[in-house]
Amino acid sequence: MIQLTNIEKYYANKGVKNYVLRLVTTTIKQGEFVSIMGPSGAGKSTLLNIIGMLEEPTYGTYDFLGENVTSLNERKRIELYRNHIGFVFQAYHLIDEMTVYENIEAPLLYKKVGSSERASRIADLLDRFNIVAKKDLFPNQLSGGQQQLVGIARALAAQPSIILADEPTGNLQSAQAEEIMELFKKLNQEDGITIIQVTHSEKNAQYGNRILHIADGVVKEDVTVA
Ligand code: ADP
Ligand code: ADP
Repeated sequence: MIQLTNIEKYYANKGVKNYVLRLVTTTIKQGEFVSIMGPSGAGKSTLLNIIGMLEEPTYGTYDFLGENVTSLNERKRIELYRNHIGFVFQAYHLIDEMTVYENIEAPLLYKKVGSSERASRIADLLDRFNIVAKKDLFPNQLSGGQQQLVGIARALAAQPSIILADEPTGNLQSAQAEEIMELFKKLNQEDGITIIQVTHSEKNAQYGNRILHIADGVVKEDVTVA
């Protein structure tokens, strides 16, 4: 599903190349649940953003579902993103001026999904995540855990094959964090959605089947979780 080959990323500063990633090569198969771990500044978010097509590598090849992402123009990349990828952020990134319902609906409007199909998908997600009663509230009227449920519902609305999550429980207390991790596990095991998360938490990483340890921009270890 994902093939990264010799991926490099640097930021140039006064002619000096500051490398964030160096020659990262790895494959992630459909149905995997991968955790990316490593010290602060190791390049974890950069790697996730490259996988999610939010950033471009400065060198190397990225193939996603058989498409060579590095050779696609921006319009094609956005189309591939909208059809297959759901992104979940640490600070939720919900739109404050939109209700819960409208936040979940936004990606469906981009994809021009018809109104009855939109309504039925949103109703399913609200029901599944137990937030029907919150649908007309705004993000700042919700607890952090509820906001993240909305963030995940929004990411799922377009029925992606893969969820990318950058420290999805980083702003949550442990009970809420556990609820979110259990949800990811279910989405992976029951719905077959591929999940890649960045996490600092060894406990969160154990929900997945594989841990990539990144340090100084390289994959130091690639471990299968028992
Ligand atoms: P991690 O997620 O492991 O903490 P990041 O991928 O966020 O690491 O960042 C890795 C390194 O890249 C950091 O040293 C960071 O300062 C640098 N970096 C990230 N974005 C930029 C940018 N836009 N310009 C310059 N340096 C950047
Ligand atoms: P948690 O224990 O998950 O952190 P909170 O104490 O933040 O939860 O919120 C508890 C309940 O109060 C939630 O159901 C949330 O929807 C509701 N709530 C929190 N803040 C507001 C607010 N500003 N306006 C309306 N309802 C709120």
